[in-house]
Amino acid sequence: MKEERESLAFDIVFAGGGPANLASAIRLKQLVTLHNEQHPAEPLDPSIAVVEKGRHAGAHLLSGAVLDTKALEELMPDFRDRNCPLDTIVSRDRILFLTAKRSFSVPAIPEPFRNSGHPLVSLSRLGYWMAGEAETAGIELFTNTAAVKPIVENGSVCGLLTGDLGIDRLGQQKPDYLPGAELRAKVTVIGEGVAGTLATELQNIFSLRSGSAPQHYETGVKEVWRIPEGAIEAGEAWHTFGYPLAPDTYGGGWLYAFSPTEVSVGHVTAIDPQAPEADPHGNLQLFKQHPAIATVLKGGSLLEYGAKTITSAGLDAMGRISGPGFLFTGESAGMLNMQRLKGIHLAMKSGMLAADTIFEALLRDDFSASSLQGYEERFRNSWAYDELHAARHFRQAFDKGLYHGLLQTGMQLKFPGLSLASPFLFKKNDSTRSGHAKKTRQELPQPPVRTDGQLSFGKEECLFRSGTMHEENQPCHLRIAPADIAEICIRKCTEEYGNPCTRFCPANVYAFTLTPEPALRISASNCLHCKTCALADPYGIISWIPPEGGGGPGYKLG
Ligand code: SF4
Repeated sequence: MKEERESLAFDIVFAGGGPANLASAIRLKQLVTLHNEQHPAEPLDPSIAVVEKGRHAGAHLLSGAVLDTKALEELMPDFRDRNCPLDTIVSRDRILFLTAKRSFSVPAIPEPFRNSGHPLVSLSRLGYWMAGEAETAGIELFTNTAAVKPIVENGSVCGLLTGDLGIDRLGQQKPDYLPGAELRAKVTVIGEGVAGTLATELQNIFSLRSGSAPQHYETGVKEVWRIPEGAIEAGEAWHTFGYPLAPDTYGGGWLYAFSPTEVSVGHVTAIDPQAPEADPHGNLQLFKQHPAIATVLKGGSLLEYGAKTITSAGLDAMGRISGPGFLFTGESAGMLNMQRLKGIHLAMKSGMLAADTIFEALLRDDFSASSLQGYEERFRNSWAYDELHAARHFRQAFDKGLYHGLLQTGMQLKFPGLSLASPFLFKKNDSTRSGHAKKTRQELPQPPVRTDGQLSFGKEECLFRSGTMHEENQPCHLRIAPADIAEICIRKCTEEYGNPCTRFCPANVYAFTLTPEPALRISASNCLHCKTCALADPYGIISWIPPEGGGGPGYKLG
């Protein structure tokens, strides 16, 4: 018997309540208001809903972050008067090359790497504020609600399904069972962040990535610290490369001083299914122990911890970002400039361009693929495209290691977008792009982190500062087929890779027990929703599906 689901009809539904979709919803409301003032005889009144799986707006948002306010100024020129939560303006940039014990400051910082004049922000607080602005404008925001599947009918996207509530760990309905709802819409805007469930399904159905270059992913792990006054000036923004990463692994660290007593410290590590030995959490702990960073943090205390993956291959890996009845925004569309280590402004701009396209589609009452394709043209004519175009080969230059990357970066400053990479590189798929040789178990590095309980902490202790919680009695949202656990996890992966999930997960979700017999323990309630496991798993057998709405981290400073 077909299950009865509640069905709600909207004109526009946004999957994900991050800066891209919130900017898009706000922009769309602005356009409608302007239209109604200018054409009172032909008013529009589209119903707009934003679906967000976090338990409050901003709960799952995490970034460094230095904000380029370009898009926000276009969206809301009076954002400063509206109490937008901006922190200190960056007053001094530093780029440091770290060896194990020493640091060397880059004497002249080229333009793309400068942050001076831009405000430091907590993306979580910015998202919370934007959600308030959206609700004030009349947009319906459904928090605690996970979008789990697109509705595709007759070759077109017609909305999304939200997740069921009240299913126990064995898949049985609990007394409080509530089936998910159908949210039907003329346009569905997908802004779920990296490796989203709906985006991945639509990419497959509509072959959106055919012909595009492979995507690259990095996992960023961030902590916010309270520190004693006097260690650093407010407004300092440091970026580092080198230690603790080997030259063949891409990544780097940051330290931003929000105030004389509060800093954001974080580290980004490339993740790669061909070389899955990465330990993003461990790298941050080592980074904090480096003398240059430890000097700042000494005597301080950890306030918040979190992790998320980012996309970094830029324009070449973007693929198509629209189709019949749907548009992709933000990191669902790969809107991140790795050269600048910034994506919030690009995410917002993509959302605004999507809104312009949807508004025109509303006027025409045409939501077909050809109507919504105007979004891609708008993007190509925007400053967001120009910015991504100039940086389009930045990350790929590091595929052959740090020194090759630095050489090309220098050349790209003179010739933006220059690439010395073989064109054949882009013909390979994600699982073969790595230049790393597969490592045997014996060659894998031992977990390198020594935690001291003062500057560096184990995953469990960090996790305690992430606000993470899930309904415990629900199906595991990290799916591995039982046959794969027995055949691959316990046997093959143990031999070939030494079970890298136990390292690359920054939340200690995966653990192996040897007695009474070898088994994989998955502590799904620890999950930070960073998506590293789904992207770094060398066998591609881990499926991350959205847990019950409201589960996950509860970032407030993220
Ligand atoms: Fe990230 Fe996967 Fe670990 Fe969850 S289980 S924290 S998504 S690596």
